[in-house]
Amino acid sequence: MPQPYKRVLLKLSGEAFGGGQLGVDPQVVSRVAEEIASIVENGTQVSVVVGGGNYFRGAELTKGGMDRDRADYMGMLGTVMNALALQDFCEKTGVPTRVQTAITMGQVAESYIPRRAERHMEKGRVVIFGAGSGMPYFSTDTVAAQRALEIGAEVLLMGKNGVDGVYDSDPRVNPDAKRYETLSYDEFLAKNLKIADATAISLARDNNLDMVFFQLDQPGNIARVVNREDIGTLVRP
Ligand code: UDP
Repeated sequence: MPQPYKRVLLKLSGEAFGGGQLGVDPQVVSRVAEEIASIVENGTQVSVVVGGGNYFRGAELTKGGMDRDRADYMGMLGTVMNALALQDFCEKTGVPTRVQTAITMGQVAESYIPRRAERHMEKGRVVIFGAGSGMPYFSTDTVAAQRALEIGAEVLLMGKNGVDGVYDSDPRVNPDAKRYETLSYDEFLAKNLKIADATAISLARDNNLDMVFFQLDQPGNIARVVNREDIGTLVRP
């Protein structure tokens, strides 16, 4: 039997948090928190990057006439609300949790300090990274790859809503779309697959970071993917 991963970075899309709507769906976030608590209790060190697509995506706000950089800051602030919601539900399960943000906001979160994040995880605390990279023009997928590398995660686990892995075309549009079980980074980039942005994929490729894409809105999947069960799509060099 393969051993569960010892240290993971979990990327949770904002879309999942909203249950498909604007804002946070407490039922969804509490279920995710319980799943995170169970893997922490089994000895896996967990950090999380949360997206913000359930509030704002910078690129979408620009269509209404906003400047990209300010719109992106709004997007990053949305991720902090998700981080606080997840912290709340994690702590209700009894798992100590710290939020670290890339934009300083001392009243609600620590600043991003990677060594401190590692110490938290060693003590069994979940660390949630909010506010993306603090820089416009990036995505939380790219931040997830960067944080995973910097804190020494074994794998980047990409939780997606409504899709159980990487397909050769969008399964929501094409019923004949095929899911990959494994895929190399070069293939991912050559096929221009849209499930994660190319900056994240090339960062992972250049630094030999494994990624697993899996379906987050399927209860129990966080434990399955941490236990290395054969779900989703493994992307590796
Ligand atoms: N964002 C940003 N810089 C970052 C991370 C995020 O500007 O380092 C902004 C960007 O506008 C993005 C939004 O925050 O659209 C929400 O993040 P993302 O779209 O990655 O969330 P997800 O799709 O995972 O819910």
